[in-house]
Amino acid sequence: MSGFLLTGTAPTRARFSFEVFPARSGAAALALGHAVQHLAGADPDFISVTYGANGSNREASLDLLRYLRDHTDALPLAHLTTVGESREVVRETIHAVMDAGIHDFLALRGDPPRGLDEGDPSIAGSLSSLELVELVAEARAERPRMTSVGRTAVAVYPNGHPLSRSRTEDIEWLLAKQEAGAQLGITQLFFRSEEYLDFVADARSAGLRIPVLPGLMPVSTSAQLRKVASLAGRPAPVELEREMEESGGFAPELGVEYAVELARELLAGGAPSIHLYTFNRHEQVLAVLRELNLLA
Ligand code: FAD
Repeated sequence: MSGFLLTGTAPTRARFSFEVFPARSGAAALALGHAVQHLAGADPDFISVTYGANGSNREASLDLLRYLRDHTDALPLAHLTTVGESREVVRETIHAVMDAGIHDFLALRGDPPRGLDEGDPSIAGSLSSLELVELVAEARAERPRMTSVGRTAVAVYPNGHPLSRSRTEDIEWLLAKQEAGAQLGITQLFFRSEEYLDFVADARSAGLRIPVLPGLMPVSTSAQLRKVASLAGRPAPVELEREMEESGGFAPELGVEYAVELARELLAGGAPSIHLYTFNRHEQVLAVLRELNLLA
């Protein structure tokens, strides 16, 4: 386990981390166990585990975090969301994760569950990610010193969060997360290196000091490409979209090629590391790392 971002040791080559999500069926869980072994074997800085809005998959998230802890050498990092949950339940969840020996968090507000919108009182009244960062710090302070180490990461939106009205607002909100105690940023997906590099440069000029990991996903299908475009808030690159369609909507090698180029530009531009959204598969993300010569 290297964990340079989490321990402060200088890396000899660019580093990387992964995101996985809890399996939704027994068969998917078997496949995920296999994928996770390959991912952990690549020696990432950490493997993060997503968390469903409304605590909908709290137990599945915790199970996967424990699996990483018990069956791999990778450092598990727990996503946490607050949407639709009371302060007390969020506090209990933080302690349940820490009781499992996991102390690294990605503090998120979460998206409204299907059927609810931002204006719903249960959503509008949810704790923000800022309050969650503070709550994690409070929970750490309540525990014995030896078990309270760990870092708190927060989400970053190079192309703006849908609720934000301007880049200035996005940057101010990110700076507020830093002030609340966040030590690391991880970005939403995006397609072009300048979207990340320009945003980080602007945020640095405004006072951002924490590292920001660019989030990348090597897409395999046209449907994934459309999903990434909707998360990125930008259209997919026309050529990639066309080539993917011409391959019948399934072409993992195209997604790998695109992610490799993007990662090269990001690392050359000063990104400290890359965070790969795996979609619970190891083949494509490991192909990206191999191509970048980042695997030992
Ligand atoms: P917040 O930081 O609380 O707020 C979102 C935005 O709202 C801010 O960026 C800002 O623009 C605006 N805003 C809010 N309050 C204010 C204010 N007082 N003043 C000004 N502006 C304000 N979702 C899940 O459900 N589970 C996951 O596991 C998950 N993992 C993710 C991982 C990453 C790396 C990223 C980038 C996103 C992830 N998400 C996940 C999605 C995330 O929960 C949504 O994008 C959600 O809409 C916002 O969460 P947040 O923590 O950024 O929210």
